[in-house]
Amino acid sequence: MKNIPVVMIIFGGSGDLAHRKLYPALFNLYEQGLIHDNFAVIGTARRPWSHEYLREQVGDAVHETHDQVNENDLKDFASHFYYQSHDVTNVEHYVTLKKLAQELDDRYCAHGNRLFYMAMAPRFFGTIATHINDQHLTGSGFNRIVVEKPFGHDLASAEELNKEITASFDEDDIFRIDHYLGKEMVQNIMPMRFSNPLIKNIWSSEYIKNIQVTLAERLGVEARGGYYDTSGALRDMVQNHIFQIITLLAMPEPKDIASTSIHQAKQDLLNSLIIPSPEDVKKDFVRGQYLGSDTTFAYKQEPNVDPNSMTETFVAGKVKFKKGPIAGVPIYFRTGKEFKEKKNRIDIVLKHINNPYGQAHSNNITIEIDPTSKIYITINGKKIDVPGIRREDLTYAFSKEEMAKVPDGYERLLHDVFVNDSTNFTHWSELKRYWEFIDAVEEAWQIENKSDNPNVVQYLPYRMGPKEANNIFESPTEHWIYE
Ligand code: NAD
Repeated sequence: MKNIPVVMIIFGGSGDLAHRKLYPALFNLYEQGLIHDNFAVIGTARRPWSHEYLREQVGDAVHETHDQVNENDLKDFASHFYYQSHDVTNVEHYVTLKKLAQELDDRYCAHGNRLFYMAMAPRFFGTIATHINDQHLTGSGFNRIVVEKPFGHDLASAEELNKEITASFDEDDIFRIDHYLGKEMVQNIMPMRFSNPLIKNIWSSEYIKNIQVTLAERLGVEARGGYYDTSGALRDMVQNHIFQIITLLAMPEPKDIASTSIHQAKQDLLNSLIIPSPEDVKKDFVRGQYLGSDTTFAYKQEPNVDPNSMTETFVAGKVKFKKGPIAGVPIYFRTGKEFKEKKNRIDIVLKHINNPYGQAHSNNITIEIDPTSKIYITINGKKIDVPGIRREDLTYAFSKEEMAKVPDGYERLLHDVFVNDSTNFTHWSELKRYWEFIDAVEEAWQIENKSDNPNVVQYLPYRMGPKEANNIFESPTEHWIYE
């Protein structure tokens, strides 16, 4: 693998994301030789850490995520890390940071290449981008920026942030990261759809009755109540992860697998996204909040959550497109906290056909993303000893050994940033459409919140979310496949 020269600056170097995801992923890329001799990483945060202390943290992060570590490699890897105490709101601190980046560039022959990673609370993204620009932090080689989610709070704030970032970076150099796009089974959607005649030929509104996307979490808001209460499930999960998955499921076939062709296919689809009216939102969407149990708080009682909060910890809804292979097919989604289990899955429900056996089951295709990775198709066959039809699953799965080789989403996506492959990142034009949809739903809810009867339903924790989510289907023959 080619050794990429670069100085990487991580804003939020003492944070949870850096520790749990970025440092282990960088170590794996180092072990593969992608970043090796000519790289340095500057971790920044406000705390007065030393280089040595950051290196210890990096070592701990690698040990916590790896069963076996080559200690010599780890020592050498960690020696490329430098810490700079830095308050992102203080302009002068960028001058010091620039100086250190230049020194390290010279020492490691990094060819003026810079990679900036915003691993901080989103309210700081605009400030950082502005100061990278006005303090001229960019180098003379490539300059790339990775922006964590959420990218904005609504369309207006996303546009503002985009303006601040594009002042210093070209669209092609902005990597809006969504770690779901690094997941094995999400990356498997396109090959599955386009390389199997069996599947490709039925991927149309003629055969598909509906698609269902479920991203269920077992956990509640935990310590993030203050932040979550300003966001909610729609912004936190639908605007990014669910929409990315839906786009991969509904997009037309790209002419090839080049990044530009894939993004073009996505954009063609998204141009035909139907934005829901307030009436549609009333009819097709359900929002809810979890109740408490003997041992857990109700959402409204969680620390730092407004006791009168209307913020949803669950949302179910419907998406439709006017164009694409499954134009007009309802795509139902639901996501929420305190479900009975963590489960990310997609169910593609095929239409029934008339047949001489009468009670055949529908042929569903299920893609399980987490916690297991597999695809299965339910098919009908004859019962062995009595007349009638039985149902079996044809399963595409990985062995334990294969699963152990699957890289973490962050490792995959960081690799893509280093090699400048933006296939699995969100383009601005896509993000804009997602926000237009989300804003329409949020606005309808705001109007409803001011009415006499705002409908935020309460649901029992550790089950399947609110029963009202069973009422969003277009026809009485539809229901959630995963129950
Ligand atoms: P965190 O709160 O753990 O870390 C934030 C970092 O910012 C810390 O290093 C903190 O010291 C630093 N910081 C805060 N104020 C600062 C200031 N004024 N100047 C300089 N540094 C300052 O947050 P996190 O969980 O690491 O999340 C970071 C980003 O990653 C967020 O956008 C989040 O949405 C996203 N993200 C996190 C995860 C995860 O697993 N943690 C997963 C997906 C996305």
